Amino acid sequence: MQQNHIPTQPSIKKAIVIGGGIGGLTLARAFLDVGIDVELYEKRSLDAMLSGPGGIFIQRNAIRIYQLLWEGKLYNALYEKGGKIGKGGFFSQKGRPLYINAPEFIQEENLGICLLRPELQQILYQALPPDKVHTEVAFEKFEDLGDRVRVSFQDGSSTEGDILVGADGLYSRVRASLENCERLTPPVYSGTTCWRGYFSGAGLPLDPEYSWLEFWGKGNRFGYFDVGGGRFSFYAFQNTAMGGDDASQGGALPMLRSLASNYAEPVPAIVNSLGEYPIYRDDIFDREPLGQQWGKSRVTLIGDAAHPVQPSLGQGGCMAIEDAFELAKQLKQAGDRTQIVSLLREFEASRSHRVAQVFTSSRQVSQLGQTDSTVGCFMRNWIYQLTPTWLGDLQFKWLFDYHPTWG
Ligand SMILES: Cc1cc2nc3c(=O)[nH]c(=O)nc-3n(C[C@H](O)[C@H](O)[C@H](O)COP(=O)(O)OP(=O)(O)OC[C@H]3O[C@@H](n4cnc5c(N)ncnc54)[C@H](O)[C@@H]3O)c2cc1C
Repeated sequence: MQQNHIPTQPSIKKAIVIGGGIGGLTLARAFLDVGIDVELYEKRSLDAMLSGPGGIFIQRNAIRIYQLLWEGKLYNALYEKGGKIGKGGFFSQKGRPLYINAPEFIQEENLGICLLRPELQQILYQALPPDKVHTEVAFEKFEDLGDRVRVSFQDGSSTEGDILVGADGLYSRVRASLENCERLTPPVYSGTTCWRGYFSGAGLPLDPEYSWLEFWGKGNRFGYFDVGGGRFSFYAFQNTAMGGDDASQGGALPMLRSLASNYAEPVPAIVNSLGEYPIYRDDIFDREPLGQQWGKSRVTLIGDAAHPVQPSLGQGGCMAIEDAFELAKQLKQAGDRTQIVSLLREFEASRSHRVAQVFTSSRQVSQLGQTDSTVGCFMRNWIYQLTPTWLGDLQFKWLFDYHPTWG
């Protein structure tokens, strides 16, 4: 365990955070750890905030942060609940290995942890004093008062703080306010839709050697991963027009069954076991990176509000976690209130390169995985199979080369 060095008292007295997703909840904990008081506002009910579709990878780069927060208690709770990320990789539709990696490739025992989203949200929420989290309060707009910021909510109430952080996701209203518009321009549709859910592994022909597997088909992909307690999360991506719905097709299952029929086991067996579990469908979007500046004055953004990426690397939430830590670390240096604005801009600039890299790589992996021509799929699989593992590793190694400290 790394040392949890709690820094000296910063001059920021109160931060306002909008959004109770992974980024906002992690940021609130990080602020409290560095002695910044925080009030978090979430537009959904508490129950809805603590829900979510399927599972999520919290990879080694991001999990290192939880070793530092709240005296490592978050880290311990995540490892008690989730499934460790071990050996895994990409396979052809018929189950031929294309690229496999194991935690040893970055000299670690595991590559992080996977959890069901509601369980992750619950763990993050429990790390906060409940009176710091205000649910069913939707951000409306902010006003820059020079030495502080005033935030108004849709219910007519308002509050003031030293800074405002928008952690309010893909359709961020804080970002829209920064851009002086009512609503952000629509995000970029990836051309794919995604079904997600979870299932019990009992009785299914899952290979215990792997904690995660992703099968690459023609214009679609199917993956699953261990989320702890004998449960697994699955996802299926399909190239399709935006805005499709399952209701007109008789539900998600017929679509998933038809997709799975082209795949090797255990994919058909998994899909056949899904009957009793909820299945969620979402179109997949991202946004071009903002560049070096994300906010202005005393307002900044983190996570999907600033840089939504396609999920093919499983790093969108991990970037939100990294942002949260780096922002708290940056602001703990604010010995003098006049430094606050420049520290916010330094935080944004310091994150811009890494999140842009994740954005580009996520698009590239998605394009490969979703290749939809016979020749393209053959070439893709052939190149992956022939590429030495060490060369394949270079595609991902840099993601894990992030070693946070309070410094
Ligand atoms: C299919 C899929 C699979 C993925 N898999 C992974 C993975 O394995 N690993 C990974 O790291 N990432 C993954 N991601 C990405 C990850 O889910 C996101 O990057 C992450 O949730 C972003 O966190 P956030 O806190 O920035 O935003 P969100 O999780 O979107 O949270 C934003 C919060 O703000 C609230 N909010 C919105 N507007 C307002 C308002 N006006 N006032 C108050 N509150 C508001 C919302 O209700 C929400 O609770 C995946 C994404 C998809 C679509």
